[in-house]
Amino acid sequence: MRKRILIISLVFAFANMLFAQQGNQVNKNFMLVIHGGAGNITKENINDSLEKVYEKKLAEVLEKGYEVLANGGTSIDAVEACIRMMEDSPLFNAGKGAVYTAEGKIELDASIMDGKTLKAGAVASLTHVKNPISLARKVMENSPHVMLIGEGAEFFAKNQNIELVDTSYFFTKKRWDDYLKMKNKIEEKNKGETPEKHGTVGVLALDMYGNLAAGTSTGGMLFKSYGRVGDTPVIGAGTYANNNTCAVSCTGHGEFFIRNVVAYDVSALMEYKKMNVSDAANEVVNVKLKSQGGEGGLIALDKNGNFAMPFNSNGMFRGYIKANKEMKVLIFR
Ligand code: ASP
Repeated sequence: MRKRILIISLVFAFANMLFAQQGNQVNKNFMLVIHGGAGNITKENINDSLEKVYEKKLAEVLEKGYEVLANGGTSIDAVEACIRMMEDSPLFNAGKGAVYTAEGKIELDASIMDGKTLKAGAVASLTHVKNPISLARKVMENSPHVMLIGEGAEFFAKNQNIELVDTSYFFTKKRWDDYLKMKNKIEEKNKGETPEKHGTVGVLALDMYGNLAAGTSTGGMLFKSYGRVGDTPVIGAGTYANNNTCAVSCTGHGEFFIRNVVAYDVSALMEYKKMNVSDAANEVVNVKLKSQGGEGGLIALDKNGNFAMPFNSNGMFRGYIKANKEMKVLIFR
């Protein structure tokens, strides 16, 4: 069986390479940009050893994305593969390690968008799907819809061979402690510090064929109401990709990102005002959102491999890798 999988993978990689070589549009500047959430991420909150753990994980994710893209995988393949890794890691607020709702439950959201076709898939309020990003991709590719939620989404997941898990799978001690701290704070038993409320993961890829893709996955905001959905699965708010402009993935206080249609706003500034990707991304994060008190950040990548990673919070887990293997991982300001 293993041998068969290996042979199929090799044939697939070879076919992809052949396709890349034959097409005139082979783009040697493939590129990947990731984030692991923005928030009150400071040297005081993250000790040296934890900082190293995050750096190592972010680097592994970048290397995985590089491998997919260098072997001729599409931008959508790279986005899905990288986000799955981050969903499987307890370090990030997505998949395992997601924050708890006010009732002490897990509700997961994710979305993915293809910049070439403008097709998109999104899922929200999932409670049993191990990798929400893969279900979002199935919605995009195997359904006539863009967004499925809750029980309907999980029903669809069953028919798509998506892995479902018991809710206990998502448990992490850190997030449960944060939940209890927040509960006590609200009930006025804890006058101390407010725990970190959010986080999210996002990946953007530009593949050899010149196509952009974006994906985002989250557990949402700590202590959110039952049924609350943030910006992450809202196409145009938390995620957007268009080969003519850019790919964007956001993280932060979701309500502000929905009201400002943030991801699409970056693209619109590029399309209509002819701004470059850095100016457009900065305008939205550091001018518009900041003036409203909308905390967070985003990553944005254009079809030429230009990118921006602005945030108006204390920190944002982020990084990039280029085709020439130049790689950088950053956490603090
Ligand atoms: N934007 C996410 C939400 O509001 C949370 C985050 O990115 O931290 O659900």
